[in-house]
Amino acid sequence: MTLRLFNSLTKTKDDFAPIDAKNVRMYVCGPTVYDFAHIGNARPAIVFDVLFRLLRHAFGDVHVTYVRNITDVDDKINARAAERGISIRDLTEDTARIYNEDVAALGCMAPSISPRATEHIAQMVAMIEQLIASGNAYAAEGHVLFDVSSKPDYGKLSRRSLDEMIAGSRVEVAPYKKNPMDFVLWKPSDAATPGWPSPWGRGRPGWHIECSAMAGQYLGKTFDIHGGGIDLMFPHHENEIAQSECAHHGAPIANVWMHNGFLQVEGEKMSKSAGNFFTIRDLLADWPGEVLRFNMLRSHYRQPIDFTLAGIKESWKTLERWYGVTEPLANPSPDAAFFAALEDDLNTPAAIASLHQASELGLAGGLGFLGFSNVQMKIAAKVQTDSVAIADAIAARLAARKAKNFAESDRIRDDLLAKGIVLKDGPDGTTWEIKR
Ligand code: AMP
Ligand code: ZN
Repeated sequence: MTLRLFNSLTKTKDDFAPIDAKNVRMYVCGPTVYDFAHIGNARPAIVFDVLFRLLRHAFGDVHVTYVRNITDVDDKINARAAERGISIRDLTEDTARIYNEDVAALGCMAPSISPRATEHIAQMVAMIEQLIASGNAYAAEGHVLFDVSSKPDYGKLSRRSLDEMIAGSRVEVAPYKKNPMDFVLWKPSDAATPGWPSPWGRGRPGWHIECSAMAGQYLGKTFDIHGGGIDLMFPHHENEIAQSECAHHGAPIANVWMHNGFLQVEGEKMSKSAGNFFTIRDLLADWPGEVLRFNMLRSHYRQPIDFTLAGIKESWKTLERWYGVTEPLANPSPDAAFFAALEDDLNTPAAIASLHQASELGLAGGLGFLGFSNVQMKIAAKVQTDSVAIADAIAARLAARKAKNFAESDRIRDDLLAKGIVLKDGPDGTTWEIKR
């Protein structure tokens, strides 16, 4: 198989050759856990899950290591915990658990390793000490800053010069910075903020050093693929490159950089104030995870996505039609056209188009390969056609309850549950939903 991937660093699409085919290594920036993940956050999870599956297919399941971190130390987390009057630990534990449930419902496999930033402070401190020793960082007023002027090719990923960055930045320049673009590796914590002892006093790491330290810990100095959303290219990924390369004597951190495009909703930037903000959880209440996943994969990962209700409905209809003709098979193999599309820089829209023409065998295999289980959809599709029967059953159960025939009303409820329908009794009567 010849897998070709677009490399955001070189801006070329190249044949992928892993450093070690026995251990193909990928790092993807994971969530900052302070709130429910939104449907935009689902995009890198789904896109890199498809790549993970493809790499496992090409190199063998046990020969791919996929690391996706959890950022559980961040000022947004501190603020939200204070606002809700709960401990930081409770907030991050709960949010990380919900994130994992949400992306699992979207058909994403668990990464090989999901390291948490707070469990790797020692590695971050060690890396910062190394950067100070090599003359790439300096301590000032309880902070440690990376000195961007010490890295002549700083800006090579986003292709910006230092002058352009300074002109384009609106950051307030702290007096302890030598250069306005110098970024924080370590900052002091007051008594009310989480902090760890360090040679520079009690404090906490900056966001960028977290990824450099965790990637280095689990994947070594240089690994194969680094991924994330396009919004992270600057400054986050630029800074990861600067830190890791300087700490590792110039060794590149990753050979291939991949960035997914942004997701908008009905043509607009998603924002809470605009009222077009959708959490994964909200959407899962209305749609099977497979429909949301399919809808995402109908666009190429580097293109922007316009997420619309009409698009989801269309995805639903397509899957419903396909599932009407195919059952998952034990070891199906998709058509060559399907793989040729995926191997061409994860061209999922073309892979999906090939499924439109596939034989039953190719279709079933392709769907499994894209991460669809078929189960949720089967139930959901059945529910749609059975909604009249469900309404009848609810009425019959109500009548049984009125007649105090509780054995019968329980039987009806259990019968529906066995079919994947959960009844909910509320002040306005009985409603139902699909069991997830
Ligand atoms: P965050 O928790 O904000 O750091 O984001 C987690 C991941 O989601 C990162 O890889 C982001 O690039 C990605 N992401 C955030 N918003 C969007 C969006 N609207 N469309 C696509 N990806 C996004
Ligand atoms: Zn990162």
